[in-house]
Amino acid sequence: MKKGLLIVFSGVSGVGKGTILSQLMPMEDLNLAYSISMTTRKPREGEVEGVNYFFVSKKRFLEAVKNGELLEHARFVGNDYGTPKEYVEKMREAGRNVILEIEIRGAKQVLEKCPDALSIYIVPPSIEELERRLRERSSEDEETILKRISKAKQELKDIDFYEHIVCNDDLDKAVEEVRQIILDEMNK
Ligand code: 5GP
Repeated sequence: MKKGLLIVFSGVSGVGKGTILSQLMPMEDLNLAYSISMTTRKPREGEVEGVNYFFVSKKRFLEAVKNGELLEHARFVGNDYGTPKEYVEKMREAGRNVILEIEIRGAKQVLEKCPDALSIYIVPPSIEELERRLRERSSEDEETILKRISKAKQELKDIDFYEHIVCNDDLDKAVEEVRQIILDEMNK
């Protein structure tokens, strides 16, 4: 059986990555498996353990790093995030295309280890639009929102290493574009 793809999927927070993914995941021909990350961040309202993330203590996170359980890991706005390795490997061996929804430094680590990974970065139409979307989501306090915006500006300067950059101006168009990128890679 052909091994599944490893797909690194990134974009600044608030850009609509989650919405794009929620439309792509049910498309059977893409055969996707979502890699659930480990994080020390507290759950947001509506987030479910083992669905959105594995929410863990700092101690457990450090243990996972030490034991080599993570494919990559990074700190983001005061919290740690990492990708459990075992699930990714199992799913790929089973022929599934695994999606890693991760930030840019983790993406770099993955591409160093697995240069054949497919990398996609979602950009907002503008910083103003991004700020509007983050406030609309308003799941965080002002300080965190400002930190996320400043982080986004910094991050957007360093995305050249992604193979594909997709603008989420129109949701349907962005979904279709990402879908086509994955299908093309599957058919290579
Ligand atoms: P959030 O707190 O909004 O859920 O995620 C913050 C950032 O961390 C997002 O850019 C998200 O893609 C990224 N992220 C989520 N899981 C991981 C992971 O396992 N590794 C890395 N490096 N980043 C992650």
